[in-house]
Amino acid sequence: MSQLRAAAGRGLRRSGGRAAPPAGQSRKGASSRGGAPAPAPAPPPAQHLFSDPAEIEALRGNLLAWYDKCKRDLPWRTLAAAETDANRRAYAVWVSEIMLQQTQVATVIDYYNRWMQKWPTLQALAQASLEEVNELWAGLGYYSRGKRLQEAARKVVSQLAGRMPRTAEDLQKLLPGVGRYTAGAIASISYGQATGVVDGNVIRVLCRLRCIGADSSSPAVIDRLWDMANALVDRSRPGDFNQALMELGATVCVPKAPLCGECPVKQHCRARSRVEKELAFASQKLFGKPAPVPDVEDCGVGGCPLCPPATEPWDSSLGVTNFPRKAAKKQPRAVRTATCVLERRGCHGALEYLIVQRPSSGLLAGLWEFPSLTLAQDLQEEKQRKALADHLQAWTGRPVAARNLRLIGEVVHIFSHIHQTYVVYSLPLDGDMTLDPALSPSRWVTEEEFHASAVSTAMKKVLKAHEKQRGKESSPGKGSKRKRGAKTEGAGSTCPGTQLSLRAFLQAPTAP
Ligand code: SF4
Repeated sequence: MSQLRAAAGRGLRRSGGRAAPPAGQSRKGASSRGGAPAPAPAPPPAQHLFSDPAEIEALRGNLLAWYDKCKRDLPWRTLAAAETDANRRAYAVWVSEIMLQQTQVATVIDYYNRWMQKWPTLQALAQASLEEVNELWAGLGYYSRGKRLQEAARKVVSQLAGRMPRTAEDLQKLLPGVGRYTAGAIASISYGQATGVVDGNVIRVLCRLRCIGADSSSPAVIDRLWDMANALVDRSRPGDFNQALMELGATVCVPKAPLCGECPVKQHCRARSRVEKELAFASQKLFGKPAPVPDVEDCGVGGCPLCPPATEPWDSSLGVTNFPRKAAKKQPRAVRTATCVLERRGCHGALEYLIVQRPSSGLLAGLWEFPSLTLAQDLQEEKQRKALADHLQAWTGRPVAARNLRLIGEVVHIFSHIHQTYVVYSLPLDGDMTLDPALSPSRWVTEEEFHASAVSTAMKKVLKAHEKQRGKESSPGKGSKRKRGAKTEGAGSTCPGTQLSLRAFLQAPTAP
């Protein structure tokens, strides 16, 4: 199978993962315009186009030859190359494409292998529970992806007789969570449909090849890039061509230090050409020779919608990385959350933690976490401790002393649009605790069970912080208060017949 490319464009956590689909392309029909049809835009200046058929042929040939030689071996490529059944092949590509959105190839490989082993077919996935999906997806981030993948699999099985839609248009139209990019990738790789793809890597490569310096997230630029991708895609090997373009962006034409000298399409690259002309100009000037006049203007057309804006012209110090340009990213929203690691000794003395399930919609939907409470910004520690104690009290129906909550520290986790700070507390318990079933589902888990549960990376960080603190306290010679694995003072086992009173640990005899 051809390689899939990890994107490094807009919205990625880092280079190497599949980029988010461009703005306006991630939802079904998002590229359509409402209202009366707008007049057709004027064609862009030739500087920004591929208009020579011979050059297009040469670019395709160079890129595919490089890809055949340099592509990485990746499990989804191997699987799709060997799969003769079109539905299974499309499913294998689809899963990889969804996992690669916003996520590095290196991270995805293990998740992909485990997923395909557990659910090798659409039918198998359709029969899985959401809890199982969340458990396998735990740590991969952007959890709604797994849920939507499963919903779409169920739809294919129940409404489409198990047959995957066979064109990019139908894939986008019929499958929830499949946008224009994913539909194009599945259709070109699985079915050989000659349709282009545009993700963050493709955006970067095309913008450099054709000196496109306008905001690459703007609908006008994105539309042009889709046109270009559709025009360039190789008619006989569309899947390989698309993957080659993405692979080039992930491994050669990378965001910060592109390897132009190794680039198989450098002779077609106008950004590189511009850099070379400037270097030649500077060199001739150094030796006092008459120099050719460099291309000072990008395309010679004033107000060109694809050139860099007049306020941010070409910067020689940046070279080819002048392209692409993006609008300033919106600052993530800051959120503070108090979270409490409630722990007890379970049977045989093993530590257990209480986790509760989040609501079935919204951020981290359906995942499990330590009992948590969103805090007002700038709340003093004393007040946030009290707020958490009140929250636990309301939740457990038992008194909780704020003074018994031990502050562990802060854990920061960055979600795509949220700068999340967890203020971590712990509270050891000496007995079982049954929560009101009308509230969130909850359960006690060992550390091993915690990691096997559908918990987010953020919660794993919280537990790690808690364990680090415990390790410090149990280190000899560091004023150890208690040893790791030792019982908390007064703590008992929850084994039948040995359960002690919870009240002693939750009861608040004095005001905090
Ligand atoms: Fe990218 Fe450099 Fe190749 Fe141009 S020559 S496409 S900038 S790697």
